[in-house]
Amino acid sequence: MCGIVGYVGSEQVAGILLDGLRRLEYRGYDSAGLAIVSPDGDVKVARAVGKLKNLEKALESAPIAGTTGIGHTRWATHGRPSERNAHPHRAGDVVVIHNGIIENFLELRAELQSGGTTMLSDTDTEVIGHLIEAERRRGKGLVDATRAAIARLRGKIKYRPVVFDLMPPTFTFLQLQRTVEAMGCLSACRRFTWNGHELEATTPSFTKSSTWMNASCQ
Ligand code: GLU
Repeated sequence: MCGIVGYVGSEQVAGILLDGLRRLEYRGYDSAGLAIVSPDGDVKVARAVGKLKNLEKALESAPIAGTTGIGHTRWATHGRPSERNAHPHRAGDVVVIHNGIIENFLELRAELQSGGTTMLSDTDTEVIGHLIEAERRRGKGLVDATRAAIARLRGKIKYRPVVFDLMPPTFTFLQLQRTVEAMGCLSACRRFTWNGHELEATTPSFTKSSTWMNASCQ
């Protein structure tokens, strides 16, 4: 199947994320991608179809500096395996990776499109970010916006999106199942690292969560 990794720390993150994804390769996947907060505060995304070595090559030719990031290996369910459909998916200031299936994504997608949203992929996952952004435009904060967005999703498989919020001055990770759990805030959390199949908080100020601690998909 597929995998999710993340890191907030002081070391360059691209290699750490690749290493984490490599350890999840045995689950199977058809494409992979990373989102990294670059030193200028923007987020850069790299994605590649096929094996991780293709993502590595893409990063060799266009390296991404930064010490905070998330990574994903995808097993396509909605939208063919392609770079365009590989995660992460960006919607405004939110970047989303996700393992699972959103069964009502066609109606959500149609609703978003009729409201003027341009979809950049064929995936079900992309709707999550746009739904969150729509809720934020209505005045909600990230957690409440994400909670509202997730409440609209239907599916048999547990949702495991990781929302990577790029809104300055802080970057927030949320790991979501059916309920929202705020995972930590970069301003309060110096580091968590991928360890075996787990992401491990190594700072006392980081709020540990069992959902994040088991962040790779089943
Ligand atoms: N349904 C999502 C997609 O097709 C996620 C698939 C996965 O679990 O990797 O992009």
